[in-house]
Parts: sequence; C-alpha cells; structure tokens
Amino acid sequence: MKQPQYWINPNTRLRFPQFCLEWQACDKTDLLGFCKMDHPRRKTYLTGTTCIHLIHSEDYSRLYILYYEGQDFQNLRLQKWLRESIRDTIMARAAIALPQRLHELENKHQLWANSVTVKKLRKGTLGQCTHDGHICLSPLIVIFPPALMDETILHEMAHLKYLHHRKSFWSYLSQLMGCNSKERKMLHDMALSKYWSLYTFLMK
Ligand SMILES: [Zn+2]
Repeated sequence: MKQPQYWINPNTRLRFPQFCLEWQACDKTDLLGFCKMDHPRRKTYLTGTTCIHLIHSEDYSRLYILYYEGQDFQNLRLQKWLRESIRDTIMARAAIALPQRLHELENKHQLWANSVTVKKLRKGTLGQCTHDGHICLSPLIVIFPPALMDETILHEMAHLKYLHHRKSFWSYLSQLMGCNSKERKMLHDMALSKYWSLYTFLMK
C-alpha cells in the first residue's frame, strides 16, 4: 500500500456544516470493554495494539471516533479503514441531506424534478439532469460550503427548464439564485479548488 496523501489522526479536523468528525480520547480498558457491548451504530477496529470505535449519529451528521491516548495511527491498514469509514458516513449523510435540501429548494421555487438520486458521478461531475426531469447529485457536494451546495442543486434544477448552457439557461439560473449566475459560477470554481484535494482524497 502506498503512503496516503493525508494521515487521519486526532489532529484531523473535518467540520463541515452537514458533517462533523469528533475525536474522543478514552480509557483503553473502557474501549476494550465496549467491544463486548452491542451498539447498533458502532464499527470497531481491533488488533493487538489498536482498539478504535466509530459511532455515527442517527442522521449521520456526526461521526465520533473513540481512541486511547498514545494510539499509533501510522498504520496503512488502519488509515484505509478510517478513510473508508469516514467516506461511507459522508455518503450516508448525503443520501439523507441532499434530497431534503432539493425538496426545500423545489418548494421555494415551485419547480419540481421527477425524481432524485444521490450517487458517485464520473470525475469532475457534481450533478446531472436528464431530459425526463431526473436529477442526480454527487454525494461530494454535501461537504461543500452550504452556498456552493445550493448552487450545484439550483444549477441542476435550472436544467429542468433548459437542457443546455445557452444564454437563456444562465439568465434563468440567475433568477433562481437571485444573482448573476455566470459570476457566481466563477466564484464557485475558485472556492472549490482549495478543498478539492482533501475532498477527492476522502471520497475516492
Ligand atoms: Zn449544467
């Protein structure tokens, strides 16, 4: 296994409006004891030197990592497990939060899609809208700043009326966003770039 781009450890801060990671240092004996108890929302990584529990909140908006002081995180297998667990929790959060936000925006603008799915899209694609009014959103956008998450959703909603990127599309999107959509699109691209490497690392 090759060296990861980021090492996940208690200094890792992931605090997005829709998803937060919380690190909690615990007593090692308590952590081991916890292994024997049933918990519906827990995942455990247990070896001779490692005992880490992950617990997610019911709506997946928080992921608690229980570890003991002195735990060594420099282990590639553990790193892979942590990254995949965090990614899966973000995906589960996206499956709840994105359709919810879409429905709020649909009601606000009185513009409805026929259906919505949240799934990984090909690289660089954040959303899609088909000619029959089906919207598909990338789970990645759930960890974007809220304004950018909304813009991505509104962009796909604007395609419900205009299935192209001509002038009429942008002026309609500006109307939905209450500002100049082309200018905002540039801001969007700029704002994304500084998060991009962490996002793609987490979600790959
Ligand atoms: Zn588009």
